[in-house]
Amino acid sequence: MLKATAASIIGYQLAGDAATLNASLTDEKIRNRYQQSHIAVIGAGGFGGWTALSLLRKGAKVTLLDTWGPGNARASSGCERRMIHSQLYAVGSTGSNKEVYRPLYMDMITRALQLWREHEKRWNRQLYFPCGSLTLQPEDAQDGREALAYMRERGTAVEELSLRDLERRYPQINLEGVSWGLLDVDSGYLRSRLACQELFRGFLEEGGEYRQVSVKAPEIDGSGLDSLSLSDGSRLSADQYIFACGPWLGQLFPGTIRIRPSRAEAFFFGTPVDDHRYDDQHLPICIDGTRSPSAAVIPDGDFRGLLVEGGPPRVRIIDPTTEERIPTTDLLAFHREYLALRFPGMKDAPLLSMRVCQYENSDDRNFVIDRHPAAENVWLIGGGSGHGFKHAPVIGEWAAEMVFQERAVEPLFGLQRFTRGLA
Ligand SMILES: Cc1cc2nc3c(=O)[nH]c(=O)nc-3n(C[C@H](O)[C@H](O)[C@H](O)COP(=O)(O)OP(=O)(O)OC[C@H]3O[C@@H](n4cnc5c(N)ncnc54)[C@H](O)[C@@H]3O)c2cc1C
Repeated sequence: MLKATAASIIGYQLAGDAATLNASLTDEKIRNRYQQSHIAVIGAGGFGGWTALSLLRKGAKVTLLDTWGPGNARASSGCERRMIHSQLYAVGSTGSNKEVYRPLYMDMITRALQLWREHEKRWNRQLYFPCGSLTLQPEDAQDGREALAYMRERGTAVEELSLRDLERRYPQINLEGVSWGLLDVDSGYLRSRLACQELFRGFLEEGGEYRQVSVKAPEIDGSGLDSLSLSDGSRLSADQYIFACGPWLGQLFPGTIRIRPSRAEAFFFGTPVDDHRYDDQHLPICIDGTRSPSAAVIPDGDFRGLLVEGGPPRVRIIDPTTEERIPTTDLLAFHREYLALRFPGMKDAPLLSMRVCQYENSDDRNFVIDRHPAAENVWLIGGGSGHGFKHAPVIGEWAAEMVFQERAVEPLFGLQRFTRGLA
């Protein structure tokens, strides 16, 4: 852990040193370095889309490639809503090494939220819905207490709600088994699929190029990569290649990165006529810390219904290309039952639609943003692990800086952590 902490700090210092160094270069040299580069970004999900846009803004020529398009129905970013909240990190639930990852993620969220807000204005489309995020806490909530203290210490906007507060504010929730609530105030959800499309539109408007084509797994032979082999029989040559292929990343680079695409299901239930208690003006995101297995509920704001996801953890590794996206009967039954218990007014709510998606878990559930160990012009970006979407603008920003050597690879997101035991 000490090693990782030190490495992390060094990572930041190097980034700072690089910035100072760059300031001493002439503007023209900097411009040339960027403008002479052609960069191929493979994958137009949240990670690839934001990386492509960030590189473009540095002056590079960027070609974005995707097999099925930005936010497509197979992609992890292709679902309707993704949460942006910090309590997950305040609890430290992204695996081991909490003390080093926790502040890193909290800082990332602050920057990510700023970038989401700036861009929804720029693109004139609401993408971030600031409804807050409420965790229902049991009496012996050690994690909840720790998260509350940590968020307060950092100055994150957080409220501790008593049972009485909860009853008064959210009469639509049945509070059985709940002792208090932690409200993460500056949080909410992002319209993820729509965000990918707006991001894509922004990328094209700013001069990016796009090809809808599949990239074959590259053969890395120890030197740099010369070109990509594409599914339409052509080849594409660039200076640098960034692979942001979500759940497919492990298939493209077996032996270099392990990504486990595991199946997940999300259900949208219809709210009663004239009953607005389940929209994002009246209900925050609800995460149930009192039950196991549990579920998370995201209120309606895009007219698709109340979203319920989570349920009993079952790891079924899938092929995201061929997986049939049919709901599992017992998971549907679990979510229906859960909804009826916590939100009695939704007891007989009809299922309106559902999504089968997949997590793209790295071995320690933390991200990967690193150069390929055997090809210096190839970068791997992924391992969103069920919490990556919100961070995509920051990941894109960092990736672009790393590619241009303005920022050192963050060891906590580096590939070496899996072999050096940093994870
Ligand atoms: C049920 C569920 C709930 C989640 N909840 C949250 C949440 O609340 N908050 C949050 O922040 N995150 C959440 N996540 C995680 C988040 O969705 C992902 O981490 C994030 O969307 C990953 O984005 P990505 O760009 O890496 O991958 P993707 O969105 O999958 O994009 C990868 C892209 O690469 C393309 N591609 C792949 N291979 C090739 C190839 N060979 N050639 C060309 N193109 C290729 C694909 O077509 C795809 O468009 C959740 C995930 C799941 C499954």
